[in-house]
Order: sequence, then C-alpha cells, then structure tokens
Amino acid sequence: MPEPRMVVRTLKEYHPPLGGRRGLRMDFNENTSGCSPRVLEKLRTLDGDLLSRYPEREPVERLAAEFLGLDAPQVVLTNGVDEGIHLLAETYLEPGDEALIVVPTFSMYEIYALATGASVAAVQAGKNFRFPTAAVLACITPQTKLIAIANPNNPTGQAVSREHITDILSAAPQAAVLIDEAYYDFYGETMVGEIANFENLFVARTFSKAYGLAGFRVGILAGHAEQMKFVRRVSSPYNVNGVALACLPEALDDREYINNYVAQVKRGRSALENELTAQGVTFWRSHANFILTYFGDYRVPFVEAMRERGILVRDRHRDPGCAGCVRITVGTEEQTDKLIAAMRNALTDINYKPQSREARA
Ligand code: PMP
Repeated sequence: MPEPRMVVRTLKEYHPPLGGRRGLRMDFNENTSGCSPRVLEKLRTLDGDLLSRYPEREPVERLAAEFLGLDAPQVVLTNGVDEGIHLLAETYLEPGDEALIVVPTFSMYEIYALATGASVAAVQAGKNFRFPTAAVLACITPQTKLIAIANPNNPTGQAVSREHITDILSAAPQAAVLIDEAYYDFYGETMVGEIANFENLFVARTFSKAYGLAGFRVGILAGHAEQMKFVRRVSSPYNVNGVALACLPEALDDREYINNYVAQVKRGRSALENELTAQGVTFWRSHANFILTYFGDYRVPFVEAMRERGILVRDRHRDPGCAGCVRITVGTEEQTDKLIAAMRNALTDINYKPQSREARA
C-alpha cells in the first residue's frame, strides 16, 4: 500500500460546512447578490470551442496586472487565493522551515504550510483580536520562510496598518510575506504599491468575495518579478479554467457593479452594528463584509434559530480565542433588513440575555 508522507497523515482536514446551504447565505462571506450581469452575458456567448482548447492565461494576466498598476511579470492568476497560498508554500517552504501566522485566521495558511513538512508558529492575536505586531516581530527566526497575514483578517475583520506590515517586511527579508487582501474591496487599503520596494512582499486578491465569482475559482497573486518567476514554476500552466478566463475581463471592467455592492455592504455593516449594539450583543468592528459577534451560551440556539428563519450564519466557536463567537456576512441592503428582522425575532425566541465577554489579553 502506498504510504502518505507522515505530515499528510497527521494533517487536519478542513471541511467547510457547504452541504445543504439553503436560505440566505450569510455564512461564507460571498457576494450574496451574485456577480456582475456583464459576466453572465459573456457566459451566454461562450461555445464548445472555448471548452475544447487549453486555456490561455497570459492575456488575462496582463489585464489583471494593468488593473493593479503592475507589470505582467509581477502577476500570476491563480485558482483562487487558496492556490496562491499553496504556490507560496511550495516555493518557499521545506522541512525545517517555519511559517508564521497570527490566529485566529484563515485555515489554509496552516494546512498548506504543514503539508510541505515545515512547522507553523501561531501567534495569538491581542486584546480584541488586535494584530500583535510586537509578538510577530519577536517570533521571526532565520528559519521563518513564510509569513501569512490576512488584511483585513477572517474571521475577525481586524486590519493591520501599512507601517506595521512594513516593519515585518524589513525584519524578515528571508521570508515570503503574504498580505492576503481577499477583502480588499471592503477595506480600501492595499500593499500593492509596495511590491516594487520589497522583494519579499506578495499580495493576493480574490474574485470570490466582492465580485461574486467564488464558483469560478480565480484569484491574483502579485509579487516582485524576480520571485514570481519561481512561483510560476510550481504552478500548472492551466490552473485557471477557460470559462473563468473568458469572463474575467468583464468582471474587472464593471466597476459600477463592485462600487454599488461595496457601498451597500458598508451601509449594511453599520446597520447591523447598530442593531447588535441595541440588542446587547458584543461584536468587533470589521473592515470586511462580515462581523464577528459573541453570543456566548446562546451561540448554538442563535445559529439554529437563524437557520429556522432561512438565514445561515457561521459558528466560529472552534477558532482560537473565538469560543462563543458567530460570524455574520453582510450582503445587500434588502438582505440586511431581512437579517436584522430575523435576528430580532430569533433573539426574542431564544430568550437572549446579553453575554459579557472579557476582552482577552
Ligand atoms: N483568504 C481569506 C482571508 C479568505 O477568507 C478566503 C475565503 N474564505 C480565501 C482567502 C479564499 O479565497 P478564494 O476563494 O479566492 O480561494
């Protein structure tokens, strides 16, 4: 019998709860109103010829580079940010190396890092999930070869400042530093402009969130041209499928669609914050299209009561430091109104009493 490598045998499984997601999906931070209608129009024009040909990534990569104000050699299109993380792990990590992450955060950094045989140093976020810059700097060793930071972070919605990222980049020139900007559109701050200044900086973007194209599986990984040469070597030349490539230019071009959706999410986020405050629910102000909330002992009944009302929210209880927490995605204004109405009703139904949570150090 073939024997999987030891690190693979002990790797934890990541099973996102995707089964039977019926109702209003406020559980995966997707765009809850779909993609640009221009993408759908383009889809309808595609024919079998496109499917029979191997997909050509480069022309769309040039557009993506232009979109970010970069040159084509600085950009690779990926099968979602997931693949971007995987490519960085494959390019920079080997047994004996260390990857550095701040938890709670997106699960795939740890999984791809461990799969290479490297070890993972996880630094716990500070009080109120603040980014622990000093602790991260103290954790950097000569073996640190990958540092992955989601900015803003999932599931907390917290951001780290440009100055602190720059400090980390300077302190770890031997490490690939990934700034995962999956939620950039809702935040507005980017490190893309610093790529020319730091050869160890990589920035990831996705089309799965604001763009409403999670099913296409497309992301962008950007970095210094010299480094991206190596990243390309470990990538399949056909990693992004032809249908997604054919439609991506429309998605990139329809700024109005994104701007409108982002504006709705920001208004909805404020409305939800007001409601949570009124209901006595602890939450953390977010820079993304979701809010992490604390329901304490009412976590399970709340998630269930929302499901009964046709709204899916995500239990984050098992994330480090997140006991009692639930993450709620924010969608369009109409959906936020529905969410708020259902929440009021659910909280009455479960006889919710405000829960106190000590902000941990
Ligand atoms: N990074 C972060 C921080 C995320 O939250 C997610 C999705 N949950 C991803 C990456 C994955 O994005 P993609 O769909 O582009 O693989």
